[in-house]
Amino acid sequence: MRDVKHFIGGAFVDSADGRTFESITPIDNTPIATVAEGGPDDVDRAVTAARTAFETWSTAGPTERKRVLMKVADGIAARADELAEWETRDMGKAITAARTKDIPRAAHNFRFFADWAEAAGTGAWDKPWEGVFSYELREPLGVVGSISPWNFPLMLLTWKVAPAIAFGCTVVAKPAEQSPITASILAEICAAAGMPDGVFNVVNGFGPDSAGEALTTHPGVDAITFTGESNTGRAIMAAAAPSLKKLSFEMGGKSANIVCADADLDEAVAGSLRGIFTNQGEVCLAGSRLLVQRPIYEEFLARLVEGAEAYRIGDPLDPATQIGPLVSVEHMEKVLSYIDLAQEEGAKPMTGGHRVTDGDLAKGNYVAATIFADADNSMRSCQDEIFGPVEMVMPFDEVDEAIAIANQSRYGLAGMVWTSNLDTAHRVARNVKTGTMWVNCFFERDLRAPFGGYKDSGIGREGGDYSYEFFTESKAVVMKLGRS
Ligand code: NAD
Repeated sequence: MRDVKHFIGGAFVDSADGRTFESITPIDNTPIATVAEGGPDDVDRAVTAARTAFETWSTAGPTERKRVLMKVADGIAARADELAEWETRDMGKAITAARTKDIPRAAHNFRFFADWAEAAGTGAWDKPWEGVFSYELREPLGVVGSISPWNFPLMLLTWKVAPAIAFGCTVVAKPAEQSPITASILAEICAAAGMPDGVFNVVNGFGPDSAGEALTTHPGVDAITFTGESNTGRAIMAAAAPSLKKLSFEMGGKSANIVCADADLDEAVAGSLRGIFTNQGEVCLAGSRLLVQRPIYEEFLARLVEGAEAYRIGDPLDPATQIGPLVSVEHMEKVLSYIDLAQEEGAKPMTGGHRVTDGDLAKGNYVAATIFADADNSMRSCQDEIFGPVEMVMPFDEVDEAIAIANQSRYGLAGMVWTSNLDTAHRVARNVKTGTMWVNCFFERDLRAPFGGYKDSGIGREGGDYSYEFFTESKAVVMKLGRS
């Protein structure tokens, strides 16, 4: 059992009222950590520490901040195996993915934003004909509350914390209650890297009536950067309204993956399988509605089913495992209820569709890679985010029809199109209302590019200058000069 405390003002501390909760591993649903359960008093202590630290960190300059952040990145790299193992135990992701993707990307987030902040400039606007010269100053925004989900615990946390700190803000982070362990290890790494006390704070707890809500209502928090469900975003926006916080929201998705008849089928099959089964389908960007053009529909489906059945489901600590357990019993039950619903709605079960209970797997939350064919986009199973290994497949005839189906969704986070026709690629990319559109690939990410969602999938963008914009205030200095 690990003891996970809050990290406030550079010290690991218990909750003011001594409350704790247990973190349960989805591998066999046993407790693996005792976690301090924060409330308003703990959030207040952390905000006070962050406010004090802001005075010096905000003026330290990007080069000094970079020096510390690079050490944090080195610290993550040095403890990568340990971080990967705890990430896997905490939320069930396949350890090979944690080791090779999530943890290296967490380190990269620190390196990238440390460099970006050092290189970032501002604008200037000259009006010599009127003798007026304007330029922009950027100043760190202040104390930022970071609220993050459990599906990529460290990677998504660092995606927020690294730019906030690089651009001179200080942070109070509230990790997801299902996966608090790696945030606490990150706090150890930050302390060892010489990050000044109070720059990065962690308060553990739940959302409503707990640390999450306390962060969103605290008057000393200037901004909230949140990743999670769209309904949680609604609650946070309402809670943050009285204190008028700046908000950045990355939320749910039900993205369309469009496979055209002229696509490279090997690539499209492999990409579509990754698009839904990566991380057990617990991916906001998942291509969970798969639209296949009619001439290749049957062949594509057969290859997809064959691929799904080849996925290795099992103990996520085994390096060969590709699909681990779902994060909690509650979440598994939600996913299974959507599988039942898809059948009731008339989608055709092709493979999977059940819990996996072979041997020791019976103790955990394993759901087989599941494919439904002949789905209709109006079904609830095609409209709601299931957030599990469940693919809803439907045919289409014309590309415009696929675009229309893709847009019949309250979400607009991502999308994919597989085609060898450049015009089709551009047409789909232009017309699908979504924050990211991948052409002949999936999950590629360039941290300089905007990341975020349309509609219920998000407000604002993250990445490069988009993060610079969010974590800084912009000031126009307007000077009257002599005419030149
Ligand atoms: P969630 O919304 O239940 O929880 C996310 C975080 O918000 C947790 O830390 C939780 O404690 C906190 N929270 C919950 N209610 C709160 C409240 N009222 N006030 C303050 N904080 C509160 O989401 P989840 O189940 O952890 O994650 C899955 C969801 O996240 C999915 O919808 C997924 O699509 C989305 N997601 C989006 C992205 C993206 O980049 N767009 C990335 C990953 C996950």
